[in-house]
Amino acid sequence: MVWRERNNRLFTDKKKPPEQVAKDIKAVVMLRMEGHDPATCVFCGNGQDSHDHLFFMCSYTREVWQRVKHEVGLHGFPELWSDILILLADNRGPRRKVQKLALVGSVYFIWMERNRRLFRDLSVAPIQLYKQIMEAVWTRLAWRKVVTKAR
Ligand SMILES: [Zn+2]
Repeated sequence: MVWRERNNRLFTDKKKPPEQVAKDIKAVVMLRMEGHDPATCVFCGNGQDSHDHLFFMCSYTREVWQRVKHEVGLHGFPELWSDILILLADNRGPRRKVQKLALVGSVYFIWMERNRRLFRDLSVAPIQLYKQIMEAVWTRLAWRKVVTKAR
């Protein structure tokens, strides 16, 4: 149960920059999936429950990405973790902050939803997951503004 609690704090720890959150999530995912026999994907039932399928190839995941990316004005699908890490390292553009959080939040919520389905037999539709992601993103952004003002 310890790992689950740690999982829960990956995105909600507001002091952690998006780059670090992404690295931490990647480490957790690698650890959980390493040597794990790829079963059928819990989202689509077609692909394998592998790291690449789960985050980048699955039809469920792609629908979530599509909605999130449309909302924050990001174009093109990330196909690999390295794409995400490159985007996170790029500070140009006024919307970068929200785009970074949206990317990291998507990865985080996709991972949590996979675990919810796998271990608790609970599920939400892509549109609901998208809403959870954006709510968490706006919450983190609002918190940031409060902190900046207080300084
Ligand atoms: Zn799938």
